[in-house]
Amino acid sequence: MKTLREVLTDADTRRVAVGHFNISELAALNGIFAAGRGLGVPLLIGVSEGEREFIGARRAAALVKSLRDEYDYPVFLNADHSHSLEKAVEAAQAGFDEIIIDLSAKPMDENIKETADVVRAVRAVNPGIVIEGEIGYIGTSSEVMMDAPAGIALSTPEEAAAFVAATGVDVLAPAVGNMHGLLKTMVSGEVHKRLDIPRIAAIKAAIGTAGCRFMTLHGGSGTADEDFVAAAKAGMTIIHVSSELRLAWRRGVEEGLRALPDEIAPYKILPPAAEGIRKIVEDRLKLFNNLR
Ligand SMILES: [Zn+2]
Repeated sequence: MKTLREVLTDADTRRVAVGHFNISELAALNGIFAAGRGLGVPLLIGVSEGEREFIGARRAAALVKSLRDEYDYPVFLNADHSHSLEKAVEAAQAGFDEIIIDLSAKPMDENIKETADVVRAVRAVNPGIVIEGEIGYIGTSSEVMMDAPAGIALSTPEEAAAFVAATGVDVLAPAVGNMHGLLKTMVSGEVHKRLDIPRIAAIKAAIGTAGCRFMTLHGGSGTADEDFVAAAKAGMTIIHVSSELRLAWRRGVEEGLRALPDEIAPYKILPPAAEGIRKIVEDRLKLFNNLR
């Protein structure tokens, strides 16, 4: 079985991206895993601090490990957007494969210093763990919003190189036109997020010379299909999708309740939620992995 680091190295070499999908519960995990397994591509499952609080960090780790072991399948777990050293260390101790330390809301010098502290602390728990740091600002909400968050700040190759050199992170999450959450206009599909592909390529080159190989695209929901493909080619190693799955989950639950108004067995109500998520994940994975 390959490690996450080996999976990322392979994806980077082939200039494809590993799909990262968030879960709060089992219907989502089942839908995501069915999509990945159907295509035979590796998967990263993400749990934010809120999602970890609901599932439990150790339970999330046990669930993902159970799939990896039972199906001998490359499925890994990431502590998405950890905002403190304590939360990052807790996830490392629970057996996560990747930790994201997100201090991007702080001034750059504090972000660098505190991210470096987290890198040291997390590596002391698990030297092989993959660690991601964040720069720039792309909003924080994985919800449907009326307007784009204020203060979006794009990253430059110079600050990206300085950040990875000073912190020692394995993966960089820059701001390149991506945004967390979905706008109302994106739900209907009339508007898509557009990425700054030349900026992605320039940041990739700059961090490479500073010894950092991998990059993550956050806030993938609602992005134009061709931009996903171009982003992977330009050097994005991981692509995150969350809001779209939350929307599909809600619609699926509503559909399940409508179809079976007198049913009380959750496992009979929730399949449309899992299936809605499976369809989106399959569609996204084909783009990320260049399968069509
Ligand atoms: Zn994110």
